[in-house]
Amino acid sequence: MSNTDATPTEIRCRTEDPPVGDTRNPRVEIITSREVPLGGPRAMPVRRTLPQRQRSLIGAWCFVDHYGPDDVSVTGGMDVAPHPHTGLQTVSWLFTGEVEHRDSDGVHAMVRPGEMNLMTGGHGICHSEVSTRATTTLHGVQLWVALPDSDREAPREFQHYVPEPTDLGGGTGKVFLGTLAGDTSPVRTFTPLLGVEIVIDAGATLTLDVDSAFEHGILVDTGEVALFDTVLERAALGYVGTGVPRLTLANRTDEPARVLLLGGTPFGEEIVMWWNFVGRSHDEIVAYRDAWQNGSDRFGRVEGYVGDVARLPAPGLPNAQIRPRRNPPTADPNC
Ligand code: MN
Repeated sequence: MSNTDATPTEIRCRTEDPPVGDTRNPRVEIITSREVPLGGPRAMPVRRTLPQRQRSLIGAWCFVDHYGPDDVSVTGGMDVAPHPHTGLQTVSWLFTGEVEHRDSDGVHAMVRPGEMNLMTGGHGICHSEVSTRATTTLHGVQLWVALPDSDREAPREFQHYVPEPTDLGGGTGKVFLGTLAGDTSPVRTFTPLLGVEIVIDAGATLTLDVDSAFEHGILVDTGEVALFDTVLERAALGYVGTGVPRLTLANRTDEPARVLLLGGTPFGEEIVMWWNFVGRSHDEIVAYRDAWQNGSDRFGRVEGYVGDVARLPAPGLPNAQIRPRRNPPTADPNC
């Protein structure tokens, strides 16, 4: 998906310090979602938990948008014209509905519930996403993964994977990236990552052994779930830092609850995000934007998209670079 924010700001993202706590019962940081301003009259509202000021990365996960369940007859569904990406991978994961994907690597694919589609847009890619006519309800997440500096010029690639359900003892997981409960996704990533859809049985508590070198986040899709002792409301993201070997998740309701478990080793590199681009500096972002606006071959062409506009124009750049998110110099004239 495209970042629907009509006036995106440039954000510097870096691994933040983990919350202090006992590794057996760690402190949980709650990242509440914010609704992003709509990019058009029919665009769906999305709830964004990453990036935010307090925390911008979990492992290499740098962008978490959660949307729906959305009545397509009211909102018109999803119709995102061709738009570019650099320096990242997009992970599309649906709970309900169907989206038709076309990209400049010549891929034409359907995104369906429980099927992961990971698109690599290292050097440059563009794609369109349109919910199909058969879709009445649209409900899912759009996730981005930052590529490490060594691989951020990676060629275009598209990986599709349908995980089998895994019994978690009180719930079920679908491991689309990484390893959990002995189940490993074959999908290749450039840094160690974890991505799992988990449905927790009514009233059940799950204990999950995880890689203690990872930091982790729990995004609540439905229900109310306690991560250790911290209750997370719907659409909130609970974060725990590295050094934690086991997560406990309790469904506090009498219906099944659904969450996404995201994790990864701390990314360590500072990145600059603006609109649909990930780079390392403001000047790079400006160059990516110019390339897109000028129709550069960097991003290729999408074939077969039918819509009101042939491609999404980039928003205007902010006039000045924003300052680093932490420890800003107090007398910086650019701020
Ligand atoms: Mn996109």
